[in-house]
Amino acid sequence: MAGQTSPAQHGQLVLTGGTIYVSPAADPITKGVVFIRDGEIAAVGRRGSVRVPKRVATLDCSGLTIAAGFWNSHVHFSKQKWANAANIAAPELASQVQAMLTRYGFTSVFDLGSPWENTRRIRERIESGEIPGPRIRSTGEMLLGFSVPEEILRTSGIMRVTPEPLVRDAIETLTASKKRLDAGTDGLKIFAASPFTPFSILPGEVIRTAVNEAHRRNKPVFAHPQSRDGLLASLAGGVDVIAHTTPISGPWDEAVLVAIRQAKVALIPTLKVWTHLLRDRASLRDLWTRNNVGQLRAWLASGGVVLFGTDIDAGMDDYDPSDEYALMAQAGMTFRQILASLTTAPAEKFGESGRLGRIVPGLVADLVVLNGDPSRDVRAFAAVRYTIRDGKLIYQAAR
Ligand SMILES: [Zn+2]
Repeated sequence: MAGQTSPAQHGQLVLTGGTIYVSPAADPITKGVVFIRDGEIAAVGRRGSVRVPKRVATLDCSGLTIAAGFWNSHVHFSKQKWANAANIAAPELASQVQAMLTRYGFTSVFDLGSPWENTRRIRERIESGEIPGPRIRSTGEMLLGFSVPEEILRTSGIMRVTPEPLVRDAIETLTASKKRLDAGTDGLKIFAASPFTPFSILPGEVIRTAVNEAHRRNKPVFAHPQSRDGLLASLAGGVDVIAHTTPISGPWDEAVLVAIRQAKVALIPTLKVWTHLLRDRASLRDLWTRNNVGQLRAWLASGGVVLFGTDIDAGMDDYDPSDEYALMAQAGMTFRQILASLTTAPAEKFGESGRLGRIVPGLVADLVVLNGDPSRDVRAFAAVRYTIRDGKLIYQAAR
């Protein structure tokens, strides 16, 4: 019985009988065994080929699918429910983290904009072992060249924070970038263009200054592109990750695709968030969905790397990623490409491929066990039975 195992007790845990995807490229191991010891993958293989000590806590994974722990590379801890994170009662904080992240298999997340001191508290409470949760990386507060109207914060339920100084030239950008990175953030997030009319683009020197300062410290820069011009400015400025497609722009033309090929950036498509935000405007929703799906298809055809992300807990608090998986498949992504966007691609982009992203002896035991088979229906990526981080069960579905 899964509920009666205590995998942390001896630092050992065995998963038996599942179909194991050790990496997106490899053929799956059927009726496989994963042996976890001291938070690492100790062995993986077909049943009978893996030696497992007696009396080890075991999870029967017959009929289930096992993959490396998932990354969500675009989240936020911005909604009011995360405010004052140091003082949220542990059971309540734990249930929020579960509802948003661990119940969908996320063992690593990148927060692309939230009050850093607050997000840091959430991370500390997870890392201390008080709250089961994923590894959290964060850019801290976004770098903005425009002020956000109060009304937008209020209507979207986003925390009110002391307004950060705007970044309008190289000097302001250098000061703001240093401030965030000195405070311990894991990267920078910049809006390449304003999300409000007239969608004005940031000066090139602003993007380049942020990129130079982050890269000097080996940290990535994420850009919200907003429009075709914002995307081109982001690529020219040398950012590492584009945080959305640009549905207001229509299809990406050859000039955009050439720039993408040269820039070697990664894209987080976030297809569902637009359909969610436009749910009361069916005609616009359908047009933007077509644009987003078409842009992702063009990106893939030009060889671009994709990272999975949903942009949850800023504009959207509908956490179920099933529709995101379905829309990615609609854009032509295979099951294996989606699995790569959840595992190996982010691990590589963020310098963690030696520790995370595959089920290989010696790597960290971050695993997801799925009820169904996502190679038949990609929505099964969202039906999680167990989430395991560092060899410990951090989520299990109710039976
Ligand atoms: Zn976002």
